[in-house]
Amino acid sequence: MSLFAGVVVNSDALKVDKLFTYEVPDKFSPLIQKGHRIRVPFGKGNKTIEAFVMDLYTDYNGNISKLKAISEVCDENPLITEDDFSLIQFMREKYLCKYIEAIRVLIPTGIMKGNRIKTKKVICYAGAQLQGNLNKPNYKNAVDIISENSGIFTKSELMDKFKLSAYTISKLLENNIIFSDDEQVNRINTRNYEIYSSKDLNMEQQNAVNAILGSKSKLILLKGVTGSGKTEVYMNLVSHMLNNHKTSLILVPEIALTPQMIERFKGRFGKNVAVFHSRLSDGERFDEWFRIKNGDVRLVIGARSAIFLPFDNLGLIVIDEEHEGTYKSEQNPKYHTREIAEFKSRLTGCTVVYGSATPSIESYFKALEGNMKLVELKNRVDSSSLPKMEVIDMREELSNNNKSMFSKKLYEAIQDRLEKKEQIIIFLNRRGYSTFVSCRKCGYVFKCPHCDIAMTYHTNGYLVCHYCGTAHRQQSECPSCSSKYVKYFGAGTEKLEIEIKKLFPRARVLRMDVDTTRKKNSHEEIYNTFKNGNADILVGTQMISKGLDFPNVTLVGVITADISLNLPDFRSSERTYQLITQVGGRAGRGSKEGNVLVQSYNPEHYSLSYAKNNDYEGFYEQEIVLRKSMNYPPYANIMLINLSSKNQVDLQKHCEKLGYSIKNELKDNNQVEVLGPCPCIIQKINEMYRWQILIKGNFELSLAHNIKDIVYELSNEVYNDIRISMDINPNNLV
Ligand code: ADP
Ligand code: ZN
Ligand code: ZN
Repeated sequence: MSLFAGVVVNSDALKVDKLFTYEVPDKFSPLIQKGHRIRVPFGKGNKTIEAFVMDLYTDYNGNISKLKAISEVCDENPLITEDDFSLIQFMREKYLCKYIEAIRVLIPTGIMKGNRIKTKKVICYAGAQLQGNLNKPNYKNAVDIISENSGIFTKSELMDKFKLSAYTISKLLENNIIFSDDEQVNRINTRNYEIYSSKDLNMEQQNAVNAILGSKSKLILLKGVTGSGKTEVYMNLVSHMLNNHKTSLILVPEIALTPQMIERFKGRFGKNVAVFHSRLSDGERFDEWFRIKNGDVRLVIGARSAIFLPFDNLGLIVIDEEHEGTYKSEQNPKYHTREIAEFKSRLTGCTVVYGSATPSIESYFKALEGNMKLVELKNRVDSSSLPKMEVIDMREELSNNNKSMFSKKLYEAIQDRLEKKEQIIIFLNRRGYSTFVSCRKCGYVFKCPHCDIAMTYHTNGYLVCHYCGTAHRQQSECPSCSSKYVKYFGAGTEKLEIEIKKLFPRARVLRMDVDTTRKKNSHEEIYNTFKNGNADILVGTQMISKGLDFPNVTLVGVITADISLNLPDFRSSERTYQLITQVGGRAGRGSKEGNVLVQSYNPEHYSLSYAKNNDYEGFYEQEIVLRKSMNYPPYANIMLINLSSKNQVDLQKHCEKLGYSIKNELKDNNQVEVLGPCPCIIQKINEMYRWQILIKGNFELSLAHNIKDIVYELSNEVYNDIRISMDINPNNLV
C-alpha cells in the first residue's frame, strides 16, 4: 500500500504556509513517523530542502503520478512529539503565525542544523586477562591503571599523566585487553555554587505550599509582597516534584539579570540543574535540549524560550515575576509565555505558578473571576516590614531653586546612609548621558539619520541612536545654524553617576545598564562587587529593579518616575506601579528598615499614591475601571497591524487601501472599532517608515484570522516591499 505524507517545508515564503503532499518511498515507510525531520525536492528546480512530516495517510485522491517523493529521513526519532502538534495548532490559531514559525520555537536552530553530540575517544578496560607474551610487568601495570576508576581515560592522559607508552597502549588495544570508545562531552557549565541551605518555611509560606499542592485549579497566582520568600516556596514545590520524579521548570524574565535565582537553585539542588536561555551556544543548547528530552535532569531554569523544551513528565511550571514584559515574544510566533504555560497545563495536568508582588492586571483579573487560584503572601519573612515610601514633588524643588537631579530629601538620605555604611540603590530608567541634544539658538535637535528619534549623548563623546545603534561623534557646532550653543537636555544613568561622584566624592559607585554589561560576566561582576559590600551606591536602569536581595540596602531612590508614566500606552500606569514597587522592594530586606524616595513631576498620579501605600488592590480597582471604560484588555482585545517599508509613499497608499477594506469588512460589527491607518508613534526606525492599523473591541480569534487573510491577500503584490506584522494584545503600542 502506498503511503503519503503531508509536510511543512522550512521556508519563509508566505505561500508555503500549508501542507504539501509527498509520496513516501517504500524504503522509508517502515520507519517514517509523524514529526520526522525530512528532506524533499521543492519548487520548480526541485532543490532539496528541509521539511517536517505533519501527517501520514494511505489514501490520496489526487493524481499520484504528479507527486514528488521524500528524498531523506534525517533523524532516527521524530523531533516533533504528539503534544507538540497540538501546541503548533494552538499557536497558529492564537498568534496568527505560520507552521514553520511555530516549529522553529519548538526545535531550536542548534538541533535543526543537525549539530551533534560532541564526543572524545576514551580508553576502557575490557575485563580480559593478560596471556602469553603480554603477561609482563609493564602491561600488568598499564592494565592496573586503566582498570581502576572504572577505567575511562583519554590516550593522552595515559601517556602524559601515567607515563604509559603509545606502544603499550596499542598492543593492549590490538589484543582486546582494553578498547577505545566515544564518550559524550557535555558542554555545560559545571561551576560550583555556594550551598544554599533549605529553610524552615514560616506559617504563611507553608500555607501557600499546601494551598498550591492541594488546589483543584492547576493555575495559581502567587501574589507575595517583595521579600516574602517566594523563591523558598518555589523550591519547596520543586522538592515535592523531585520526590515524585516529576520535572520542574522555573522561568525568569531574563537569565542574565537573575544570577541570584540560578545561584540559589544550583546551591540548593546541586549541579544537576539545566539552564536554558538564548545566550547559549548552539552546542550548549543541543546538550541541554537532549538532557531534558532524555529526562536526565528534572529541574530547568530558563528564560521564556525554555517553555518549549521537550520535557519528560512535567509537573510544575513557575513563572517568576509573571507581570514582566519579556514573557511576551516580539517575534513570530508572538506568544505569551503565560498562555503557553496554561496550554501545557491543560495538556499535561502540570501545575503553573504565576508569581509576583505586582501581578499583571490580566492575571489578577483572571484570579478574581475564578479562573485561577489566588494564593497570597502578605508579609515579609522574619516579619521585617515593607519599606516606607515617599513621593517627592520635583516642581516644588524647582520653585525652591533646586535644579539638581536630587531633591533635598534624597540628597540628605544618601549622605545619611553613607555615614551609616549602609548601601543605596538609585534608579533611573534611561541610559546614556543626556536624552537629547539640541541647539539653543535655532532649536535644531540631533536626530538619528535612519530613525525618527533624537539621539542620546554618551560620555564617550558619541551620539547614539538607541533604536538602530547608529553612533557618530558629537559635533560642537549646530549643523543647521553653526552656532556653538549646543546643549544637552534630560539625564541618563551616565550623568547620574557623574553627578553622584561629584556630590559624594568618597562614595564607591557602580553603574549597571546595557552599556556597562556588554562583556560576558560583567553583570555578575557588578552584582558580586555590590553584594560583597565593595560599593556603596548602585546606579542603574530597570536591570536593577528585580531579583536583587541585599540585606544592607536601606535606601532606594527613584530619580524620576515620570519616564514610564508618560509613555503613550494603555499599560503605562500599570508599568509604573510595578516598576516603583519592584525597585522599592530592594530596600529594607534585612534587619534594618528601608526607605524609598520617589521623585516625580506628577506626584498625585494614582500609580504613585497606591505604590506608596503598597496598595495593589486599590491600584487594581482604579485601573480596571479605566480599562473597562476605554475598552482595553482584559475587557477587550487589541489587534495591532504594523506595516513598514522603505518607501513612504507606497506604504501610505497601501495602508489606506488596507484600512478601507478592513473598515468595510467590519462595518456592521458594532463591537469593534478600527483606529487608523496612521503613522506609528515612532514614524521611522532603521530607514523603515512605519504605519499601523488598530482593531479594538470584543472580538473572537476567528475575526482576527479573517482580517489576517484580507491583509495577506491585499498585500500579495507588495509583499516583498512592505513588511507586515500582526499582534494580538501587544506589549506596547509604539
Ligand atoms: P521574594 O522573591 O518574595 O522577594 P526572596 O525569595 O528573595 O523574596 O526571599 C527574601 C529573603 O528571605 C531571602 O534572603 C531568603 O533567603 C529569605 N527567606 C525566605 N524564606 C525564609 C524562611 N522561611 N526563613 C528564613 N529566611 C527566609
Ligand atoms: Zn542651530
Ligand atoms: Zn537610528
